[in-house]
Amino acid sequence: MTAADDYRDPLRRAQAHALEWLSSVDTRHVGPTASIDELMASFSMPLPTGPTDPGEVVDELARLAEPGLMAMPSGRFFGWVIGGTLPAALGADWLVSAWDQNAAMRLATPATAAAEEVAGRWLLELLRLPATSAVGFATGGTTANFVGLAAGRQFVLQQAGWDLDAHGLSGAPRITVLVGEERHTSVDLALRYLGLGRGQNVAADEQGRIVPSALAEALAGIDGPVIVALQAGNLHSGAFDPMRECIELAHASGAWVHVDGAFGLWAAVSESWDELLDGLGEADSWATDAHKTLNVPYDCGVAIVSRPQLLQETFGARPAYLIQEDAAPSDPFERVPEFSRRARGVPVWAAVRQLGRSGVIALVEGLAANARALAGGISRLPGAEILNEVVFTQVSVSFGSDERTRAVTAQLMADGAVWMSGSRWRERDILRISVSNWSTDATHVANAVTAVADALAAVDAAGG
Ligand SMILES: *Cc1c(COP(=O)(O)O)cnc(C)c1O
Repeated sequence: MTAADDYRDPLRRAQAHALEWLSSVDTRHVGPTASIDELMASFSMPLPTGPTDPGEVVDELARLAEPGLMAMPSGRFFGWVIGGTLPAALGADWLVSAWDQNAAMRLATPATAAAEEVAGRWLLELLRLPATSAVGFATGGTTANFVGLAAGRQFVLQQAGWDLDAHGLSGAPRITVLVGEERHTSVDLALRYLGLGRGQNVAADEQGRIVPSALAEALAGIDGPVIVALQAGNLHSGAFDPMRECIELAHASGAWVHVDGAFGLWAAVSESWDELLDGLGEADSWATDAHKTLNVPYDCGVAIVSRPQLLQETFGARPAYLIQEDAAPSDPFERVPEFSRRARGVPVWAAVRQLGRSGVIALVEGLAANARALAGGISRLPGAEILNEVVFTQVSVSFGSDERTRAVTAQLMADGAVWMSGSRWRERDILRISVSNWSTDATHVANAVTAVADALAAVDAAGG
């Protein structure tokens, strides 16, 4: 027996459980069938006093977790913005765990560094962003927003002649961050982590897009360093801020422009959205998720910064005990907040390798086509109203009163044939639909419309 033999049994069992799980997601109740309290009760055992066979641990974990899992990687899942997992990406993710590389340094772990470097180049080409940009693989959209905004903070303070590394923010010129009224909460979180406080709201239109004249007005009233955070893909409408106009205004004021495109940046892969995204490549940093639209396993965000040197100044470190080249490109850990890090960009390599350019374009266009089909089907149901222009993957629906909409949402979740979640947008309760799974097909869409019709009928029968 070698140590390798010790892995054989737990991995074989894990593979069997994984395949069983994946074959259940299209038919099981989409939501968990046990509550957190029930799960806590079944997981709660006294601290084990001694060892257990590794394979039995895997079996036990699978058995305990089973009723509390949500069928997120299913074509019937339309909640939040989640995404599934492409087969090659899942396989790659398993290898990343087995390889167990601390993927921080190019010279120490060249295989993962090379795969991530190439994945980054492929993404820049697919998204049609400047090829000289630096790409960092972070834990998600929130950290990717953090990275872009941190680079922006570095830049605007440098422009103002302030040495942030030496003095920190105390006594620094005040940075104003302009954010759209409907930016994602994670932008506020990133600003908090960065010590930049609350952003200043810029008015948005009825689709949630920043109004350029309001941005111009805000910029005119500011004296000092400015960062502007734009959005590609509004959580409720899928809408994109008017890029070219906003970026030109911001740059004319010397501002850094960051774009939160957690799921919506992927529209840039297809010419279908060229008009709506015109000017996108002129921004200074971009954040997106690979775990949403690209369908790699959780977790993987992507931070893209147009100035590699600046990014390295922001996150880089050169302690004596590492192995680094002096003049070489930055190491993977010098582009994100992590030091030790998982090679989370490797599943991105695998996903793009599996799909190719045409496959990535078909994936993104397919998600949007499914969203339009869902909106079309649901709009024909009694009292249903689609509240947004369905420009991408998001659909926001009202069924009349807030009460009826909430009841339909609750009924859908209880039925468990599909998952769509509720939200509140522009003063109304809504059913929010997000299409983000690669495997969603026409049958899923048709069944989803039927599920909404059934829920609506049940609510009206109970209420009427
Ligand atoms: C999901 C999302 C984020 C946050 O990304 P995480 O991966 O959850 O950290 C940011 N912005 C938008 C628009 C999102 O949809």
